[in-house]
Amino acid sequence: MTATHLMHSPGHIDPLPLPRQITPREDGRVDLIGLPRQRIAELFAEAGLDAKAAKLRAKQVFHWLYHRGVTDFKAMTDIAKTMHPWLAERFVIGRPEIVEAQQSTDGTRKWLLRTADGHDFEMVFIPDADRGTLCISSQVGCTLNCRFCRTGTMQLVRNLTPGEIVGQVMLARDALGEWPKGRMDGLDDAEDEGGYSADGRLLTNIVMMGMGEPLYNFDNVRDALRMMMDGDGLALSKRRITLSTSGVVPMMARAGEEIGVNLAVSLHAVSKKVRDEIVPLNRKYGIEELLEACSAYPGASNARRITFEYVMLKGRNDSDEDARELVRLIKRYKLPAKVNLIPFNPWPGAPYECSDEDRVRRFSKVIFEAGISAPVRTPRGRDIDAACGQLKTSAEKKSRAELERLWAEKQQALG
Ligand code: SAH
Ligand code: SF4
Repeated sequence: MTATHLMHSPGHIDPLPLPRQITPREDGRVDLIGLPRQRIAELFAEAGLDAKAAKLRAKQVFHWLYHRGVTDFKAMTDIAKTMHPWLAERFVIGRPEIVEAQQSTDGTRKWLLRTADGHDFEMVFIPDADRGTLCISSQVGCTLNCRFCRTGTMQLVRNLTPGEIVGQVMLARDALGEWPKGRMDGLDDAEDEGGYSADGRLLTNIVMMGMGEPLYNFDNVRDALRMMMDGDGLALSKRRITLSTSGVVPMMARAGEEIGVNLAVSLHAVSKKVRDEIVPLNRKYGIEELLEACSAYPGASNARRITFEYVMLKGRNDSDEDARELVRLIKRYKLPAKVNLIPFNPWPGAPYECSDEDRVRRFSKVIFEAGISAPVRTPRGRDIDAACGQLKTSAEKKSRAELERLWAEKQQALG
């Protein structure tokens, strides 16, 4: 079923071939999800509408897709009934397929999703008292292979398309029942908005912390995030979206300029030796370069601080000295920063253990005492293996020896 022609990864440190990202549908219809309004208008024009009608219809359809979440053209009541079959013959309104949905005892939900060409990836929803965070994926697998991360052990990698990325949010809204209800006969029908307010929503925040390195799939991630922020559609605020990167330095400024969401950086270590081991990308872009890129990140301020993620690995990166060095680095680069301490979530064959609770508390205290916020992230959904970064289909378990071999191969590729 898959028509995967190999192409090279957009990340230039990464010589692994990536399967091509778009496999056309066999029925020839085009999935509208993930296409900008302008592109939808072009497709309508190519299919025979005059320019003005194409533009108007594209505007209406876009609103139905992203603001109302409809999955059937027949529900588009301000579009003439006679046009519904015209649309349905040429286009589809896609969603990633749900292979499996799980719910943890703490309310965390996890979905195993499948692309139309048969690749699996995951998404997690984490409800809290004051917010609901959806953790979404940017790639199937990841080419980077951080040593503590299970996603990095996956061999199959493919960039997700804008439709597959934004599709995760659409699917979450479907599952949570969060599309506005009621009539909509016209685009500016004020009545339609009644009974629906952004405040009451469960899904309030998006983090790109699922599978993949978002800055190695820059264009698709940018297009998808812009779509999520579009005021006519999902209308999520950039302040409620966070992009997490392992430190793809050359793409960070563009991320700030062209996307403008909050930045999280997976730092995890404060010395070259340890970070080279834990996050092999460090051999390409070192800590100093990374922190300089952080201090230049457009939009970072005391009101919008950069989050440094720091996974707590017993005996590797968790000493008081490490904590003091972390403080020193943040101060030296004058970074408006907070630190997020993440208890390591072990997986079969992982070469690390999580730091003891006392150690984590002490590490956090050292940073707090220096005036920098350093909360410890509470593990969520552990009974369903849902921790961010833990995303991997259990069907793909590998032996320790296989993992070591894969790791060695990727190290070699990094040079
Ligand atoms: N590739 C990006 C975004 C996805 S990883 C990045 O690396 O930032 C998102 C987060 O999941 C990272 O901060 C990573 O530290 C965390 N993570 C991965 N594996 C983990 C594990 N086993 N336990 C705890 N956190 C993990
Ligand atoms: Fe990839 Fe992020 Fe996992 Fe590293 S931590 S392997 S960059 S997903």
